[in-house]
Amino acid sequence: MNDLNGALQKFFGFEAFLDHQQPVVERICRGEDLCVVMPTGAGKSLCYQLPVLMRDGYALVISPLIALMYDQVAGLRKRGIPAAFINSSITFNEQLAAADAAARGEVKLLYVAPERLQTDFFARFIRENPPEMLVVDEAHCISEWGHDFRPSYRRIGAVAADAGIRQVCAFTATATAEVCKDIRTQLGREKMELLVAGFRRPNLSFKVIKCEGSRDAKNARLRHILETDRKPTIIYAATRQAVDELAALPGITGYHAGMSIEERNAAQEYFMNDPAPVLAATNAFGMGIDRPDVRRVIHYQLSGSLEAYYQEAGRAGRDGESAECILFFSYADRYIQQFLIEMNNPPPEIIRAVYRQLYFMTREMAEPGELQVTAARLKDEVPGAKSDGQISAALGILEKSGFIRRSARRSGMGFIRFTGDPDQLRILHQQEKTQRSRFIHRVIGKFGRSVLKEWETSIDELADTAGLSAEQTKRVISALNGDCLVWRAGFAGRAVELTDPELPLPQLDDDELRRHLDYELARLDEMVNYAKSSRCRQVELIEYFGENSDNWQCGCCDRCAGMDNSAAIPGVKAADFRIALRGADLLNGRVGIGKLGQILAGKRSAGIIAANWHRHTCFASLRHLKSATVEKILRQLVDSGDLERIDRNGYPCIKVSESGRKRLLADD
Ligand code: ADP
Repeated sequence: MNDLNGALQKFFGFEAFLDHQQPVVERICRGEDLCVVMPTGAGKSLCYQLPVLMRDGYALVISPLIALMYDQVAGLRKRGIPAAFINSSITFNEQLAAADAAARGEVKLLYVAPERLQTDFFARFIRENPPEMLVVDEAHCISEWGHDFRPSYRRIGAVAADAGIRQVCAFTATATAEVCKDIRTQLGREKMELLVAGFRRPNLSFKVIKCEGSRDAKNARLRHILETDRKPTIIYAATRQAVDELAALPGITGYHAGMSIEERNAAQEYFMNDPAPVLAATNAFGMGIDRPDVRRVIHYQLSGSLEAYYQEAGRAGRDGESAECILFFSYADRYIQQFLIEMNNPPPEIIRAVYRQLYFMTREMAEPGELQVTAARLKDEVPGAKSDGQISAALGILEKSGFIRRSARRSGMGFIRFTGDPDQLRILHQQEKTQRSRFIHRVIGKFGRSVLKEWETSIDELADTAGLSAEQTKRVISALNGDCLVWRAGFAGRAVELTDPELPLPQLDDDELRRHLDYELARLDEMVNYAKSSRCRQVELIEYFGENSDNWQCGCCDRCAGMDNSAAIPGVKAADFRIALRGADLLNGRVGIGKLGQILAGKRSAGIIAANWHRHTCFASLRHLKSATVEKILRQLVDSGDLERIDRNGYPCIKVSESGRKRLLADD
């Protein structure tokens, strides 16, 4: 034990382990294969770094992004720990040197991307110099159930077996039970044990507010919350449009990926520096943004999965002080997410049609090569396509399955020519008094009279020449367009190339694609179930991530505090809710809310008598209430998730849900 603490101090200068590190380090030191799931910030990297520093040999760390590798290696080197990466950002000789140093044990941590394992050179290298341990970072990428599936992660297992690597450990911050199972299977390490820890956040109080679907109802609740207590708040909404609408309300700033860079930077700056900012954002906001004292995260709509929800809500209270995570829940919001999920998982026919279109376009080219085609244009060519987003998703799937390659995103490309006499223009604007003058004077200064002939360029290039910012340049060009110059916007987006221009149709695994859609819809249902659940909110969340709750309860969520967020109904007692729930149970989904209200209130209408409901045991069990009041009770029970709506031969009926049943059992 002391050894470990000594090593922690010696290599990292830390006094003590963070909450869940020590058991992981101990088990890795014992040589176990582990799949570790701990949230971001829990200190996962140290869990594999420390053991490898305490033994001979090196660890090979598989990491999905150059930026991540770079940060890790820079951080380790700063502490004097010999680490290196091998990727395309360094020369081949540097790569050789890094590999040699690892083989000699001089570099203790060697980071590579999974694709590297497939290169002849590297495959041979690790066969000849197997690492002491293989670490798979961001291990959820191995599973196609994970949100960042990377096919090359799938081959790690075979490489590890081939090289006879003794110990393999996987780390991730986000993995559901299916993903964990997949990680173990794909790595071919059946003995790999799962260790999930650190998802409890006792300083966060989770709460679900049932709302009517209408925007006005939600906005009224939102205004009330914000006005009562202004503090650093993020409001997550499902779509850009919803963010724009929220940002139109007083005191709320918006942030989404559709805004210009300047607007986004301004929003970020406001969020980081204002003492009590209120920012409405899509899920594009948050990565890399570290304001520790966010006191409240409100979800204006459901997230697509509990994983996404927990990650976003978890941005509250990073400083350990108490903070709130509020979900506005209305059943109607499920459809927004369902729509988004369906767009992201296009039917196989659409994916094939997109490929087919690309194939024909490629054949029409003089020589196969890059197609500068936008999703919007493809959408017009593909029958049945629903949106640009759906086409983009289809392209993403074709790319992941290796049928196409896509370039990095291009923007600001275009064609320009001047129409006025260049010499005169240059003289006229030589004083460069305005941004426009400066642009004209400098661009003509650089290109001379050839500006009369159209040439291809980019906003960035012109901005460089003119000494203006890209945004300023855009504004100047749009002001001058049609006056002394003509600007034609070029291709914006990612160019596409067929991997095999001769292949007329891709082989897609239709079942797999459909399973993926079903899986994502099931995850959405889990999100809805969370909102409806009557258990401690945090227990729901941590169990979702596979952490054992061991009878722990957060003690501060709405469920623990015994709040049901329902507005009190005059003259109604808690017992009336129980009677209504029991009545619904006895009628077991045979009637709708209106009819059940009448039955429980003992209303002798013709319909009730004709169907003999007045002889039922629960008839008039709430006779002291009006049927409209009983209906209100029933609606609240639907809102709280104890009753659920079902369809019975085309008629909307209600029945007791699973959580309602638990409540009934608990009351017995
Ligand atoms: P994760 O990968 O789980 O998101 P990191 O490995 O990046 O987390 O660690 C998060 C931060 O915690 C890093 O700044 C790291 O240096 C720091 N850290 C890790 N272990 C300790 C420790 N025992 N004591 C103090 N700080 C630690």
